[in-house]
Amino acid sequence: MSFIRAVGVVLLCQCAWGGGGIRLKSRTIDSAQEGYRPRTFPGKYWLVQFNRPPGPELRANRPPGPELRAELARRGFRILSYLPESSLMLEVPDAPDLRDLGVSWSGPLDPGDKLSRLLTEENSGAFLVEFHPGVNPLLARSIARQHGFEVHEVDGLLPGHLLVTGNHHALKLLADHQEVSYILPAGPELLVRRRVYGCPGPITEAGPIADYALADSGWPKDAQGHVALQYMFDSVTQKLDANVARSQVERAFSEWQRYASVTFSPALQAGAAREIEILFATGAHGDSYPFTSITTLAHTFYPAPPNPEPVAGDMHFNDAETWGVGMGIDLFSVALHEAGHALGLGHSDIPTAVMYPYYSLSTGLTNDDIAAIQALYGAAGSQTASPNPPAAPTPPATPAPPTTPPATPPPTGKDTVPPTVTIVSPNYTIVSISAASLAISGTATDNVGVTAVKWTTSTGNSGTASGTSSWSATVPLLVGTNTVTIRAYDAAGNSGWRAVTVVRH
Ligand SMILES: [Zn+2]
Ligand SMILES: [Zn+2]
Repeated sequence: MSFIRAVGVVLLCQCAWGGGGIRLKSRTIDSAQEGYRPRTFPGKYWLVQFNRPPGPELRANRPPGPELRAELARRGFRILSYLPESSLMLEVPDAPDLRDLGVSWSGPLDPGDKLSRLLTEENSGAFLVEFHPGVNPLLARSIARQHGFEVHEVDGLLPGHLLVTGNHHALKLLADHQEVSYILPAGPELLVRRRVYGCPGPITEAGPIADYALADSGWPKDAQGHVALQYMFDSVTQKLDANVARSQVERAFSEWQRYASVTFSPALQAGAAREIEILFATGAHGDSYPFTSITTLAHTFYPAPPNPEPVAGDMHFNDAETWGVGMGIDLFSVALHEAGHALGLGHSDIPTAVMYPYYSLSTGLTNDDIAAIQALYGAAGSQTASPNPPAAPTPPATPAPPTTPPATPPPTGKDTVPPTVTIVSPNYTIVSISAASLAISGTATDNVGVTAVKWTTSTGNSGTASGTSSWSATVPLLVGTNTVTIRAYDAAGNSGWRAVTVVRH
């Protein structure tokens, strides 16, 4: 179909379309309600929603198709990311022209759309600042420094990402810059690790889904409220025994399956609907996302819709990596994150979550990941009963477990309650200084009494703080990252602790 005809059909359907909103983590922009008033914006970054394409098979939420994307490129627009539903973040040319493209809404992100909700709660003092793709890295750094943030150069940060420390009250000023797309908390792991690995987000044919977007549609459920997915390995890495590699990916699937009403089973034929194809490849591998750098470990296509079959849900791993089990690049940890995308989850803003934009060594899902997947599919076993339930296999007889003696109750009067420590100064858990030592102080409480407060550093120093219920210490720092742990003890030997991460230049 020619582009002109495609546009004509889109315009005909404009009035009939009820429309889903633009899904941001901060809000949903209801384009149907707000209507589209053609106007121009001074900014360089526009969020644009396009009408859904016509035809019953295409009625579901889909990214703008190849003809529309080609026309946008011809008019000088650059597609930066996809957002549900049917929306794109565009970098606009000097004289942007969106006429006759079936636009149902366009406008800039508000500063409030760029601030993770988590930033209103507890702040560690370290933040991940994301800039729109293509923003000059020097400009990004100067914007952050202009508002008093310190920029930490960490190997492996995704393009456009800055790791900064500073006062969270100044984040609003950062969000006022049009070049900034999103700001979320950063955990100490990002500062401590020698090299980090990030995920560009679940991908669609029109681009990755940005971290400020809310990706929460997932796969449509069957009549019983369940989602049954199949998977097939097109190839596995040579870096591991093939059975080991497969079992690590399957372990990731079963971890999600444990908590949500989804099942994964091996596929009998390639190319079926709701089938996750898994491949290990280097460089170009048949989609528009070649593995051009070793820092991209993997990518995964979001479910259908918005992606078409058969690519929806497919997981691609970069075979240039040193895949390992519990060492090197841990295949289970990466597969666990990518399987979350294959199920329809976007990125979490919680630094410890499996679905945070940066991978960490995982042994399983966190509460945040479990809540997210259960919000999509319900808890495992929660689907309505099938009218014709399959015959349950008879479980094999299992020997009765050996009886264990009951645990000895603690002798009465023994104190088992650990003290509680609070670090009052510094008031962030991640700080950056140039001094050779850190003055640290705080309080400690206990049901009986605090007998000692001691400190240790990850660089090998230790000592005792002066005071107990109110304590202070001066801790020596080495250049680089120091984790300072404060531990309070009671007379029974119970202890409680708090830690602060200090980066010294
Ligand atoms: Zn990801
Ligand atoms: Zn790929």
